Amino acid sequence: MTNKKYLTRWNSSLQNNYGKPSITLVKGTGILVTDADGETYMDFLGGIATSILGHAHPSIVKAVTKQVSTLSHVSNFYAHPNAIALAEKLTKMTGDKNAKVFFCQSGAEANEAALKLSRRTGKVRVVAAQGAFHGRTMGALSLTGQPSKREPFLPLIKGVKHVPYGDIDAMRKAVSKKTAMVIIEPIMGEAGVIVPPQDYLHQLRQICDKNGALLVIDAVQTGMGRTGDWFGYEYSGIKPDVITLAKGLGGGLPLGAMIALGKAADLFQPGDHGSTFGGNPVTTAAGLAAIDFIEAKGILSKVERQGAHLIQEIALIPGVKEVRGAGLLLGIELESLKASDVSDAMRDAGVLVNAANPTTIRIAPALIVTDAQIAKFISTIRKVIADAK
Ligand SMILES: *Cc1c(COP(=O)(O)O)cnc(C)c1O
Repeated sequence: MTNKKYLTRWNSSLQNNYGKPSITLVKGTGILVTDADGETYMDFLGGIATSILGHAHPSIVKAVTKQVSTLSHVSNFYAHPNAIALAEKLTKMTGDKNAKVFFCQSGAEANEAALKLSRRTGKVRVVAAQGAFHGRTMGALSLTGQPSKREPFLPLIKGVKHVPYGDIDAMRKAVSKKTAMVIIEPIMGEAGVIVPPQDYLHQLRQICDKNGALLVIDAVQTGMGRTGDWFGYEYSGIKPDVITLAKGLGGGLPLGAMIALGKAADLFQPGDHGSTFGGNPVTTAAGLAAIDFIEAKGILSKVERQGAHLIQEIALIPGVKEVRGAGLLLGIELESLKASDVSDAMRDAGVLVNAANPTTIRIAPALIVTDAQIAKFISTIRKVIADAK
């Protein structure tokens, strides 16, 4: 089977909601993936910030294999040690003694859960950011601030207002005593890796406190060590009311979570929400294995150091306008080249990245990426941009 043959089969059997994939991946180890034609690539997108330990990581393989051959599913009628252990890990990371976790499978579901939780405050209004991405299901899509994704599916949930990201005065005007929740990404990922002003989250916390609104941090993309800390907001010193996670949480397996802190942890009552696979023994085993590895190997400080190095080096490349982000979630803004052209040329040169918007290349490699692989990435993108100019 070749890439071309797979693509024909894909096109005739899968819906066209994603557009056409360019290659079919069949194998991966660490940061490397192989396509159906036998070509190997350095995966600098990591399944979109998902495979945090890379592909086929021994710790994940071992944990999943052990669990799937012991007990693969229990339903929500019964407890399971892995779900408990992972919830304990996550709540500890928040530093909040009352924090409690709801498990699901995806980012959209985590944000749906947060939206429902906010209804339990007795209020219904929500404020979110223009350009933000919070998922595609109808509730999550109502929070998403991208008109092209929303407009074909109107009407969405009422009462959601979108204000410019990073503009604290716009937030101050939009949030009132009637606001149930404000949802914000610490760094907007899908929008093109947009970083807010340094004191934005801190001021947003004050606005939410003043109005009794829940502050929901959507850490689906920034979470699990990607920016050099666990959730991507810690630098601000704030404590959110809710943190949503998915993408990297399951170490490459489908796992999401909605963590509620403080009083928000007690808003849901029995029967309020649920998910059949939520907290599944196998996905939570993978999540635990990923966190254990990150902690044991000091990955967070490595990520921070590598991110600073990448920003510094890539910003020097002629044709690059700026580099945004933190740790291993970076947006490379191009001066004049089309991001999709550069992304295609990078793939042909053996490196997978994506065009987060028409002028921005996004990278989100596995957190185990080595300095040598980063050096190779920098020389490849330098050459690709030089050749394309
Ligand atoms: C990807 C993403 C989501 C949606 O996650 P899915 O698992 O695709 O539903 C939500 N929020 C943010 C910030 C994301 O990056």
